[in-house]
Amino acid sequence: MGNFHTENLGKILGGDALFKDLEYQRKMLRCLSENWTQIVGKLAPQIRLEFIRGKVLVIATENPLWMSEIRYYKADILTKINTLLTPLTGQKQTLTDLRVMIEPPSPTLPTQSPPRPTPKTLQEAIQWENQDRKNRGERLCSRCHTVYTASSICVFCRSGVK
Ligand SMILES: [Zn+2]
Repeated sequence: MGNFHTENLGKILGGDALFKDLEYQRKMLRCLSENWTQIVGKLAPQIRLEFIRGKVLVIATENPLWMSEIRYYKADILTKINTLLTPLTGQKQTLTDLRVMIEPPSPTLPTQSPPRPTPKTLQEAIQWENQDRKNRGERLCSRCHTVYTASSICVFCRSGVK
């Protein structure tokens, strides 16, 4: 297809092994999302799961006040997360780090996209994701020009996780 955005995003996200990775990460994020209250307790409504990259989980909060709280409990949170993920990944320490970003609330985010079958290829997964984001009125990241985002810079560029 030679889709410019898709190819570039593939590079940014890590190349060939990416699609398998995306599926895997989606499963891990779903597992964490289902157990989020159990993992972070009273902080659950304040923290959003963003993405997993390698062994790093990136989460976001709207209020800077929560950052120190989250950091204080970081080791504890990671232990709980790894315990939950072990049956899924077969690893004792699936994730080794937790990064917190400050993210303003996004008024467009809660829009539910229609249910879709599991994408068959990375390109499909990215195209669908991009389409959803376009439909929400998001724009291409001004830094990497490949990821749609509600802010001017996408979550990957903002997080600094490479
Ligand atoms: Zn970007």
